[in-house]
Order: sequence, then C-alpha cells, then structure tokens
Amino acid sequence: MGSDVIQAKLVLLGDLGAGKTSIVVRFAKGLYYDCQESTIGAAFFSQVLAMDEATVKLDIWDTAGQERYHSLAPMYYRGAAAAVVVYDISSTDSYIRARKWVDELQRQGNPHLVMALVGNKVDLEEKRQVGTQEAMEYAERNGLFFIETSAKTSQNVTDLFYELADRLVKVR
Ligand code: GDP
Ligand code: MG
Repeated sequence: MGSDVIQAKLVLLGDLGAGKTSIVVRFAKGLYYDCQESTIGAAFFSQVLAMDEATVKLDIWDTAGQERYHSLAPMYYRGAAAAVVVYDISSTDSYIRARKWVDELQRQGNPHLVMALVGNKVDLEEKRQVGTQEAMEYAERNGLFFIETSAKTSQNVTDLFYELADRLVKVR
C-alpha cells in the first residue's frame, strides 16, 4: 500500500429506482434489501480503498430521493472528483435519464471528473431493455468508464469502486 492518501468526493446520480442506494449499501455494508426505501437514501458513506500506489478515501454521497423531480442541485455534485451515473438495464427511460445526467455533468462539472456509467440490475436479464453494446459505445464516445452491475447478487459492485479509485490515482 502506498503512503499517499487521496481523498475524493464521489456522487451517485440516476433515476429514482435505478439502484443507487442499493449499490452503495452493497459496497459499503455488504447488504442488500429487496425494498430499499428512498427516504433513507440521504446518506454519506466513507470508504477506504488500499490501492498499490496510494490509499483512496472515498466520500460517497447518495441522494435523498430528490432525483424524483429530475433535478439535483449543482451543490450536490460540486467538488466531486468522481460521479457514478446509474440506470436500470430493464428500463429504457432510466437509460435516457442517465444520458441526461451525463450531459449535465459534462456541461457544468469539472473537466477532470472521473465518470462511470453503470447498468444495474443485470440479474434481470430476462427483462433487459438496454443493450450492453449500445451503452458501452455511448460510454466510449463520451470518455466514461462502463460496467454492468447487480446490487442484488453483488456482481461487479466492488470492481466498480476499485476501477474508479484506480482512475482517481491516475488522474491526480
Ligand atoms: P435508487 O432510488 O436509485 O437509490 O434505487 P434503490 O437502491 O432504492 O433501488 C430501487 C429498487 O430496486 C429497490 O426495490 C431495490 O431492492 C431494487 N434493486 C436495486 N438494485 C437491484 C439489482 O441489482 N437487482 C434487482 N433485481 N433489484 C435491484
Ligand atoms: Mg436512493
């Protein structure tokens, strides 16, 4: 483990119900709830990730459900070094909304922001509406890291945060 410590604010964005809170609760606590209450989403999680070249301390901000109105105050993502934009692979609407969040972050955010596009609920393959290839190509065109996850089965959840931490070490 490197002796450098990098502290970074990470924000989660995406449609209500896409699984933002479930992803962060899965990562930070190793737990999953079938009925995650949006009202208890107003949370802040601090996680320390030991990387080869440095220790990354992520201050993870989850929404309090205010994304229901399709808007988040710029104050929410101000100062963020990383953003995770989540959609639900079984909802085209949530994917369209995710692309709007990406646009907004690219317009108003910091140009060095490390961004991930996350297709969540990959355990619902039989209900899939958003193709992997389509989302991956969109992410590539926009310089985003892309991954599909399941907060339910935990597939790729840890990888998502370690990949972001790795990128934060590299862009520093
Ligand atoms: P948020 O509004 O984006 O924070 O979404 P939540 O984390 O509150 O999740 C919304 C609903 O989707 C809850 O009922 C979760 O249990 C469910 N959910 C979240 N992640 C997954 C997943 O990976 N797979 C499945 N099948 N359901 C999920
Ligand atoms: Mg939530």
